[in-house]
Amino acid sequence: MIHVENVFEEMSIQEETQLPEPLRPLERVAWNYWWSWTPGGTALFRDLDPVVWEECEHNPRRLLAESSEVRLTEMATDPDYIARVRELAKEFDKYMEDGRRWWPQNDTKITTEHAVAYFCAEYGVHNSLPLYSGGLGMLAGDHLKSASDLGLPLVAVGLLYRYGYFRQRLRRDGWQEEYYGETHPSVLPITLVRDEQGTPVTVEVEMRGRLVRAQSWLAEVGRVQLFLLDTNIPENNETDRLVTGHLYGGDRETRVVQEMLLGIGGVRLLRELGVRPHVYHLNEGHSAFLTLELAREIMKKEEIDFGQAVNHVRELCVFTTHTPVAAGNDEFNPKLIEKCFGSTFEEELDLSHEEFLNLGRIKPYDDAESFGLTPLAIKTCRSTNGVSRKHGEVSRALWHDMFPGRTVGEVPITSVTNGVHAPTWVAPIIRSLYEKHVGLDWTEILYDAKVWKDAIEKMSDEELWGAHTLLKRRLIAFVRHRAFHSRMNAGESREYTESARTMFDAGALTIGFARRVAGYKRWGMLMTDSNRLLRLINNEERPVQLIFAGKAHPQDEGAKFILQQLALWKSDPLIRNRAVFLEDYDQEVARHLVRSVDVWLNVPRRPLEASGTSGQKVAINGGLNLSILDGWWIEGYDGTNGFAISDFDATEDAHAMDARDAESLYKVLEEEVVPLYYERDERDMPRRWVEMMKRSISTLVPLFNSDRMVREYALKIYS
Ligand SMILES: *Cc1c(COP(=O)(O)O)cnc(C)c1O
Repeated sequence: MIHVENVFEEMSIQEETQLPEPLRPLERVAWNYWWSWTPGGTALFRDLDPVVWEECEHNPRRLLAESSEVRLTEMATDPDYIARVRELAKEFDKYMEDGRRWWPQNDTKITTEHAVAYFCAEYGVHNSLPLYSGGLGMLAGDHLKSASDLGLPLVAVGLLYRYGYFRQRLRRDGWQEEYYGETHPSVLPITLVRDEQGTPVTVEVEMRGRLVRAQSWLAEVGRVQLFLLDTNIPENNETDRLVTGHLYGGDRETRVVQEMLLGIGGVRLLRELGVRPHVYHLNEGHSAFLTLELAREIMKKEEIDFGQAVNHVRELCVFTTHTPVAAGNDEFNPKLIEKCFGSTFEEELDLSHEEFLNLGRIKPYDDAESFGLTPLAIKTCRSTNGVSRKHGEVSRALWHDMFPGRTVGEVPITSVTNGVHAPTWVAPIIRSLYEKHVGLDWTEILYDAKVWKDAIEKMSDEELWGAHTLLKRRLIAFVRHRAFHSRMNAGESREYTESARTMFDAGALTIGFARRVAGYKRWGMLMTDSNRLLRLINNEERPVQLIFAGKAHPQDEGAKFILQQLALWKSDPLIRNRAVFLEDYDQEVARHLVRSVDVWLNVPRRPLEASGTSGQKVAINGGLNLSILDGWWIEGYDGTNGFAISDFDATEDAHAMDARDAESLYKVLEEEVVPLYYERDERDMPRRWVEMMKRSISTLVPLFNSDRMVREYALKIYS
């Protein structure tokens, strides 16, 4: 990104004076991420200047600032374009002022004054706001968008990471290298939060024995406001300026202070803004320190002791856990907690040092135990939930020890299954089919499974297959483009680089596999029997091609090794025309993949996939899931709407299970997936495949969308 320092004011003025009058409404629209999920929004900005749009990574504010005068004046005199600008701006105003409101405006509990306060360490709102690493962030972004669409009053709090999450590049030898981009608030459509006098609103948190100050930025996500704390200000020393430096990139100490800022600083910010939430939603444990700040506040105000204060805090807070393994939960060495917190907090809470540490322990006074944010959250929130039914069950067993005297079944942890924001993930061409067959308000009737199902069944096979085929051609063009450029950048041979231009085949069965490279996701499973895999992909009549993408944690050498093995397939002529690895998996790559693949493969080791959401994005676009029965797929699969791997109980021995799952995977591919895909009628139509696509859309979309998820949170958890 370009480097502009402290020119926030100047830049926005400049933009305003430069933009020709007919294009002015674009400014207003550019400052709210609403455009990114609205029909025609992306296309409108892209068409202003497609080249600059790509260069500025789909950031509309930069687009408006960097498009050439020639282009701007040309578009400002194009009647069709101006009409589109007016239309979108009109829709925007309508949405903001009197758009749909599912949540009753006369509700007495959750209101604009007493909104839901949503806390998360990462947000995946749009690719041009790189404050996410993966699933958790995407889920948070989708949650905000659905809350906005439903008219549920919600404000969100997060951190503005100056360097975001790492970006990925593979060396020629296949080894992953990491690099960071720098995010400059001054070129993003976010505003510095100021008070009435125009002074930036700041909060202070004592950490590591120093007062650290943070300013905050407002990103508008439809009708939802997302506040992002930022310590990169001159008042702080170099170290403290980097508290909001990297997302999940620093050491353990950085993680503690980031979480202090998010939780404690976040509550203080809401106070500065005059927000008094009805409920605080801790989306994953990263923000759990907020409960301590609330306790401190209540003790001071009501002059009560910590025990009584915690009872109040519990009434105010709800917690969602996302990890099904103990090791995946954030926990810290007590020494580190001491170093970062000092003694101020425990003194203000009137707790001894041991009592303070006990808050983060499963067993009180267990010196061997670290300080865990999940135990802290479970103790201080009135409700804890997992993110799928299975994950609820797994979490009850995992945290059973915290509830002595109860059976596993009695552990008070419930579940709300994750869903994805349909308007964000649907391809425009598929959306137009829904508009035609279900109605312009198709997203609003998703909850009516019967109406949705009848409408989808009426769609003709030709329409759906035709749209899907076009999307696949688009995907292959994208793969070729990406592969060509990464080969060129890596200095590959000319012949190999050139071959990217013709790689892959739009007619071949295309399987996508994209996710973090983590052990339990079992990236190696397809390669368990390489001869069998080769036979599968190189079948002359019924070829299969594979697209991979995903990042390995920078410190995870094992994961990097797995990636390298995959990348080195490029030297094997039997594989390189049928398999590709796309670098730097992010929302943009995900979007291309989930819209267009025939099959989405997922092979986690059970029961470690808490929910998974990428397969839900595929279902919205008519792709089929081929997955281990874990997470959301246990609830989604019904025998007619996709494919299940290993329809038997999980055994204890991980090794044996890996082998059985691999066998099942090959078998399902060979005997079910490939034959069904290539079964064609006289018009080359895969009738039974398309039938399954429709079953997938009609049965899965009404359940696994984030409107359903947010409604469930509102009714079951928040109220
Ligand atoms: C949806 C999404 C994820 C989460 O997908 P899983 O199914 O949980 O692996 C991760 N990263 C990106 C970029 C996504 O869009």
